[in-house]
Parts: sequence; structure tokens; C-alpha cells
Amino acid sequence: MGTRAPVVDHGPRTGSKVALTFDADMTDGMLDSLRAGRVKSYANLRILDLLEREQVPATFFLTGKWVQRYPDVTRRIAGNPRFELANHTYGHAAFTADCYDLPRLPVDELAADVAKTFEVIAPYGGRQTRYFRFPGLCHDAAVLDALAPLGVTVVDGDVVSGDPFATAWKPLVRAVLDHVRPGSVVIMHVTEANAAMTDEALPHILAGLRERGLAPATLSEVLAGA
Ligand SMILES: [Zn+2]
Repeated sequence: MGTRAPVVDHGPRTGSKVALTFDADMTDGMLDSLRAGRVKSYANLRILDLLEREQVPATFFLTGKWVQRYPDVTRRIAGNPRFELANHTYGHAAFTADCYDLPRLPVDELAADVAKTFEVIAPYGGRQTRYFRFPGLCHDAAVLDALAPLGVTVVDGDVVSGDPFATAWKPLVRAVLDHVRPGSVVIMHVTEANAAMTDEALPHILAGLRERGLAPATLSEVLAGA
């Protein structure tokens, strides 16, 4: 184990596999919005319906608070042999300065936060991984050093769908299909109220991948170049 957690953006540029990844953010502010009835759901079940119906592999980066809010949906994800589970912090805080408008925690709390999130996810079983994604993809040398003891691989991604707060699906399809290549890691969100167009874009993204001869696979397979 090195002294700094490794960071990857994508797998080998060979073959035909690409990873579809879905982040499941959850902050205290989002929980407040749910409780107050300002939003209906941060779990987009239409995405799961589609992936299951089409038997598409995918990887879910889960926050601990999302898992605790949506245990049944987490069970559903863990129960699908085509889905991998990964870690996206406990409460979607940033551990660096200037990371969008995310709440910030000190770097010395990072390792415990990520370890706690693994403890929340682990009982669900399924295809558990040691993949981790920073909220907002915000990281610096200090946070990567702090993560080294956990043996995680930090996964950014090379194709940003731009689905948070999108108001139309077509730009998401364009953003993905214009940039996707063999080995790509595509970043999307399963947070419905915060990413309301993702399920509408997804069928078009899947069709576009097929046209390009690309096939979705789990993150493990894509990073291994399998
Ligand atoms: Zn996120």
C-alpha cells in the first residue's frame, strides 16, 4: 500500500467496455427538503427499472445517508449481480476548499467518514468494492494521503454527463456520446430531484453506445480492461 490513494479517470483504451456510474448524493439539506415535502425523491427508480429491464451493468457510488434513507432501494441495487456498490462519503461533504457549495469537513475526519460509509454499505452484500468518489470530484494531495490507509481507489471519471439540475435530456445525451470512448467512466446521478433528466436521457445514451460498438460493464471490468 502506498502513501497516497491512487486516482483513476478511466480504464485502458482498448476493447469496447465503458462504465456507467451513478452517484447517490445525500446531505442534511437534502434530507430537510424531503422531510419538508419540498422534493419527492432522491432515488430515481426509473433508472433502476431501465437498467434491470435491459440487463445493463452499472456501478453506484453511495453516500451513507442515502443508504440509510433508502434501505429498500439499496437492497435492490445490492441484489443485482450486474451492479457494483462503491463509496461516496457519508454525508456528501467536501474535504477541500472551494468545492462548489458543499458543506466542508476537516481532512482529519475523512478516513473515519469513508470507513463509516463502508460499514453502512457492507451489510447489504452484493458486489462490494473499494472504489471511492469524492463529492464534486474535489481532491488534493492532503486528502489522498489521508485515504491511503483505507486501501481505496479514487475514481473520478472522464465523461461528465452534467446531469445535476439539468432541465432537458438532450444535452446529457450529447455530453456523454460526444466524449465516450473505450474504457470511459461516465458520471451520472440517481438522485431524481437533483437530476431529473437522467432517466429520460439514459435510453438514448444506451442506444448511442450500441451504435458506437460500446458496451456497459462494471467499473471493475472496465478498469481491469477485461
Ligand atoms: Zn456526488
